[in-house]
Amino acid sequence: MQLKVELSAAELEAQLAAVRRRLDELTEEVARNEDKFLRTQRRELQLLQADDLDSLLTVLVDGLRASYGLEYVSVVLCDPDHDVRHLLLANGTPAEDSSNLLIVESLTGLAPQYIALHQPWLGAYAACDHQMIYPGAEGVKSVAMIPLKHRGKLIGSINFGSGEALRFTREHASDFLAHLGIIASFCVENTVNRARLLRSGFTDVLTGWNNRRYLSVRLGEELARARRDQVGISCLMLDADFFKRVNDNWGHAAGDAVLRELAQRIESQVRASDVAARYGGEEFVVLLPNTEVDSAKLLAERIRKAISATPFDLPCGDTVTVTVSIGISEVSPGPNDQDLKTVGDLLVARADVALYAAKSAGRDRVVVEVA
Ligand code: GH3
Ligand code: MG
Ligand code: MG
Repeated sequence: MQLKVELSAAELEAQLAAVRRRLDELTEEVARNEDKFLRTQRRELQLLQADDLDSLLTVLVDGLRASYGLEYVSVVLCDPDHDVRHLLLANGTPAEDSSNLLIVESLTGLAPQYIALHQPWLGAYAACDHQMIYPGAEGVKSVAMIPLKHRGKLIGSINFGSGEALRFTREHASDFLAHLGIIASFCVENTVNRARLLRSGFTDVLTGWNNRRYLSVRLGEELARARRDQVGISCLMLDADFFKRVNDNWGHAAGDAVLRELAQRIESQVRASDVAARYGGEEFVVLLPNTEVDSAKLLAERIRKAISATPFDLPCGDTVTVTVSIGISEVSPGPNDQDLKTVGDLLVARADVALYAAKSAGRDRVVVEVA
C-alpha cells in the first residue's frame, strides 16, 4: 500500500517560510560564531604575546572583559608556594592591587564547581556558590567558569560574568571557551616559569633576597620614575660591624646564619614598595622610592635598633650582639638628568661615603651624607 501525502499550496507555502526562517537563523548564528571566533583568535594571540605575568593578567581580566562585552571577569589562581605572589611583588605590583585577581592557597571551598571543573561550567549566577570568585560583582546573572590547568591538574579558573541571564547557559556550546582555557593555562605556566628563571639570576642564594644585579636594574627603573614624578629617592647602605669576628669566633656557618637573620630584620622594617638587596658580603642596600632624607633617617634608626636591641641566636646555642652602621644619600633627578646610570652609581657611592663616616665615628650609627 502506498501512502500519498498531498499538501495544499498554503501548507507548502508555510513550510517553505519555516525553512527560510531557519536558514536565516542559521546564517545569523554562523556570522555570530565567526565574529566570536575572530575575537577569540585575536585575544588568544595577545595572550601568547604577553611576556610577563602583569601584562598576561591584564589581557586576561581587562582584555577579555572588553572583547566579550562582559560585566565582570575575574581570575582565580591557586598559589600554595607563593610563587606567583612573589613574582608580582618583585615586579612592583603586589597581587592585592588587583581586585579581579584572586590568588589563593587552595581552591577548596571557593565555589562548588571546583570539585570537578574539567570543562567550562556555564550556568546561572548563585550568590551562595559564586560570590567568593566574583567579589564586588553586581548585577551578574549568568557565569562561565573556564578551568586553568597545569599537567592535567586544576590550578584556577577564568570567570566570566554577564548581566544577561541567557548569556551563559548549559545549552551553550563551550568549545571556544575550552580552547581559550587551554591557551590561557599554557600562557600562565609559561610566564611563571620564565619569570622564575629570570628571578634566579637576580636572587642571592644565601638570603633569598635580591642581589646586586637586581638592585642595579631596579635602581634604573626607580630613578626614571622619580624623574617623571619629580620626587626624591633615598638610599641606605648598611654594613655589619666587626663581622669578621663572628666568623673568627663561631665559624663561617654561624656567620651565614647571622647574615640571613640580618636580612630578615631589615626586611621586617621596610615597606613592600622599598627595594632591599644584598649588595655584597655583609653589606645591604635599601632603596626608598619617593622618600626624603628625613624619613629615610627615621627608618634607618628603626633598622639599626631592630638589629642591635636583640642578640642573634647562633646554631651552637650561643648568642651574639650584632650592630650595623648605615650611610644615607638622596637624589631628586631632574628632567636634565639624562644619564640615570651615572646618577644611580653616584647615589650608591655617596651612601657608601656616609657609611664610611659612620664607621669612622665609632660604628652602630646612622650618618646622612653632607651635601
Ligand atoms: P667593619 O666594622 O669595618 O665593617 O668590620 P668587618 O669585620 O665587618 O669588615 P671586613 O670588611 O674586614 O670583613 C667583612 C667580613 O664579612 C669578612 C668576611 O669573612 C665576612 N663575610 C662576607 N661575606 C660573608 C658570607 O657570605 N658569609 C660569612 N659567614 N661571612 C661573610
Ligand atoms: Mg663590616
Ligand atoms: Mg663590608
